[in-house]
Amino acid sequence: MDQNFKPETICVQGGWKPKKGEPRVLPIYQSTTFKYDTSEQMGKLFDLEDTGYFYTRLQNPTNEAVAQKITELEGGVAGMLTSSGQAANFYATFNICGAGDHIVSASAIYGGTFNLFGVTMKKLGIDVTFIDQDASEEEISKAFQPNTKLLFAETISNPSIQVLDIEKFAKIAHSHGVPLIVDNTFATPINCRPFKFGADIVVHSTTKYMDGHATSVGGCIVDSGNFDWMAHKEKYPGLTQPDPSYHGIVYAQKFGKAAYITKATSQLMRDLGSIQSPQNAFLLNIGLETLHLRVQRHCENAKKVAEYLEANEMVAWVSYPDLPKDKYYPLAKKYFPNGSCGVVSFGLKGGREVAIRFMDNLKLAAIVTHVADARTSVLHPASHTHRQLTEEQLIEAGVQPDLIRFSVGIENVEDIIRDIAQALEIARTK
Ligand SMILES: *Cc1c(COP(=O)(O)O)cnc(C)c1O
Repeated sequence: MDQNFKPETICVQGGWKPKKGEPRVLPIYQSTTFKYDTSEQMGKLFDLEDTGYFYTRLQNPTNEAVAQKITELEGGVAGMLTSSGQAANFYATFNICGAGDHIVSASAIYGGTFNLFGVTMKKLGIDVTFIDQDASEEEISKAFQPNTKLLFAETISNPSIQVLDIEKFAKIAHSHGVPLIVDNTFATPINCRPFKFGADIVVHSTTKYMDGHATSVGGCIVDSGNFDWMAHKEKYPGLTQPDPSYHGIVYAQKFGKAAYITKATSQLMRDLGSIQSPQNAFLLNIGLETLHLRVQRHCENAKKVAEYLEANEMVAWVSYPDLPKDKYYPLAKKYFPNGSCGVVSFGLKGGREVAIRFMDNLKLAAIVTHVADARTSVLHPASHTHRQLTEEQLIEAGVQPDLIRFSVGIENVEDIIRDIAQALEIARTK
């Protein structure tokens, strides 16, 4: 799309470019397969000699338009959709590491990603070192090894709501010759475009604000095209040396800035196949059309809820970076001056027991695993999403045992606050 279009315009019109007589609205290409006239035409696609659709596991026009929209929103050069945020995180990392390699990751990340790195990728022979993202450059640098292939963190961590110093992380990653991969799910490109601050690759769980209505699980990977794989030839053989499964093409040479996404599509999607269904991509696109409006309202409402909680005597602590007293306020002002996200984390005096009583008495806010959609929802990570973690791991992941994750929706904020007030009252008096 035109480089000068602002995010709001990209949300509505990015990606799908109908030609004469084509549908104005992005259609669902509900087809597994695509027709060609000659066997040679088809053969060229399989050799990556020509571009075109042939099988939806690799590419589909609906998915491609939506990936393109998100790529434009992030200001990247290439992107792809995946079936979930977890698939996006797995592909984004596994695309550039393998058995015998090592990754460095912030410890304050989504519970599922913590398990992916700490348990499942370990089984594949990929080792991880978790670090405290607030530590100094020197301290974090100590975690790097000669076989380290990437640095990973979340812009705003789920559920601890810690803000990443993206520039600091980019500097550390680049000084060790590896890319910085940032999970930008909570901030969304409306509030923060991590590429502007040196991140190389961005991942999303589109399940959250992007879809926004809690209808479709999905993920996305976007590449900035800025990391120079050829400058680190030995470290990234998958991109810089011939691929025997495609007659010896070298991705970084043949595809230039699109090398990373092309490899992820043509190898990982081909072999592991976590595609997003075109149906879900269609729904995701409808969500994206209003992302800018919803994110703004989520942030306005969340700030009021955070202020209410901060002033309430039953509340032990509140974590929301737009509160001037918050530890991350200066970073939030720098990286997302227009607002952070709609999720507020807090603890109640009296700990776990009071937290459960509070949650059980909410009427408008529902107890759901999900976060970051139009409806206000609440979760107690230590009892739910992070249940598998030990007390020690909980603290490492930034999850205090009393932490309540409150995902503020786009309802009327006075109604949300009244609901909180009545539930707090019951929790206090029972
Ligand atoms: C939800 C979430 C994920 C996982 O995404 P799914 O779509 O549920 O697979 C990854 N990272 C963050 C920050 C998330 O909030």
